[in-house]
Amino acid sequence: MSSHTQESKAEKRSTIYTEAMEVFQHAADLIGLDNRVRMELEEPDYEHIFYVTVKLHTRLVPLPKEETAKFTDLGDSELLPDGLEPLLDGSYVFKRRALIGANVQMRDGVLRLKNKGLHKVIPGRPETYKAYRVQHNQARGPYKGGIRYHQDVSLDLFKILAAEMTWKTAIADVPLGGAKGGIKIDPRSLSSEELEALTLRYMYKLKPLVGPNLDIPAPDVGTDASIMGLMLRQYTDGEREHHSLRGVVTGKDTRIGGSEGRVKATGQGLAYTVQEWFLDRGTTPAGSTFILQGFGNVGSNAAEILSGMGSKLLAVNDAGGTIYNPNGIDVADLTEYVYNNPSNLRRTIAGYPKAQVIPKSDFFAIPCDIVLPCALNGEITGPVAETLKCKLVAEGANGPTTPDGDRVLAARGIELIPDIIANAGGVTVSYYEWIQNKRMEHWSELEVNQRLEQAIKSNYRIIRDIARNTPRRTATHNSMRYAIGKVVDMRTAAMVLALKRIEAHYQLEGFSQ
Ligand code: NAD
Repeated sequence: MSSHTQESKAEKRSTIYTEAMEVFQHAADLIGLDNRVRMELEEPDYEHIFYVTVKLHTRLVPLPKEETAKFTDLGDSELLPDGLEPLLDGSYVFKRRALIGANVQMRDGVLRLKNKGLHKVIPGRPETYKAYRVQHNQARGPYKGGIRYHQDVSLDLFKILAAEMTWKTAIADVPLGGAKGGIKIDPRSLSSEELEALTLRYMYKLKPLVGPNLDIPAPDVGTDASIMGLMLRQYTDGEREHHSLRGVVTGKDTRIGGSEGRVKATGQGLAYTVQEWFLDRGTTPAGSTFILQGFGNVGSNAAEILSGMGSKLLAVNDAGGTIYNPNGIDVADLTEYVYNNPSNLRRTIAGYPKAQVIPKSDFFAIPCDIVLPCALNGEITGPVAETLKCKLVAEGANGPTTPDGDRVLAARGIELIPDIIANAGGVTVSYYEWIQNKRMEHWSELEVNQRLEQAIKSNYRIIRDIARNTPRRTATHNSMRYAIGKVVDMRTAAMVLALKRIEAHYQLEGFSQ
């Protein structure tokens, strides 16, 4: 370890951020990264924290059980049903004037909704939320990274995620840097109108910090294409040349400048890396088996594409439960059950009739060829890695394997396709969206996927060559600049590629003083 690292480690308390930066520190030591570049990358360029206020509408919140006793005699109130918007947290928001002309029986601010129990009326009021944008690095191009709406975010978390974007954009070899941001809020506790107001206000405050050539947000947990549409409008409202500013956000609906193939891109990229892993062994995914954690955007699309390549899905675990069918699960049928079933509000695989329910503790031990973690971070711990009976872990999620998990996988000879290449399809197609916006073009899904396949597979091959210390120049890729003279694990190899590409910018352009 370099003396620089020892000093900075001693000075800094260990945080989730410093822990997450361990792979960076290790790779930086291995390649003898220029110390000034290292210090530039150790902390973000900018950490913005600000506050957004939104007027919340009046809502009905379920009355806690212990407070219901004194209202047992309260009769039903009949509010106008289309005036209430149900929220996933069990509350209702008054969408319109639901009380007008309605039959209301209220005592101490409590009323009973017919068939829905006792609710407390919480009058509308302004509320303040904490918002963030961390801009980690822009050596290779404008800052780039998603917007997360979630109750458990923090500055340290956004610092980690922003740094990961810097590594990912470098590995994907797109001319962009790294950023991440969002709001500390459970979006399921807001009505659609409140969410719109919050998003517009967030972009109003963010406007001086972002732009198509400066910092380009995208969807992340809790946000989607419709939120990006609102951010686009708020950013471009009143601008004379607003069409030229479309690239200020990516992940938009295809009808307002989004790219074909963006929705599936991360799952598609993941499937391409798995296909390449098989090709390296002279075979294809056909006839293989896989288990999948997370049936959301990444997991469901990766499953659909892999099953199209002939691989069989044996089990799925998501937030609602775990299902298993040793004869295989029909991915299209499961997708229909999860996404096109109005009564499946939480979009979960739980209750799917054509598979058996198993405990989560049995999930990771199912014998298969490939494990695809596509949900949460920190799921494949050391003990979980001990139970795996697979040949390959391909990380669709960000950070699903812990450092202990990594050590166990390596000791047991289970191969790994690390997250920063396995799930780089999303940011790669975001870049394609940004170019199409700049050029006022619209590419077909076929064109997008051809470019994506070539990009993901060639970068994956470079990482594999670094890991094996086999520098090569072939028709499809060139790893001559990147191998470091010794064999390293795949996660380190990916970081080596990122750091060498970023370092080149500092070496060739120098530093501004
Ligand atoms: P999503 O919200 O669409 O789906 C998340 C899935 O995880 C759901 O099926 C949910 O049920 C499941 N899940 C949540 N909590 C769980 C729990 N406790 N146990 C098991 N499963 C649980 O999210 P997504 O967009 O598919 O993202 C999944 C992962 O991939 C995240 O780590 C995300 O950061 C990463 N990722 C996503 C993209 C992208 O383009 N969407 C790109 C890169 C990385």
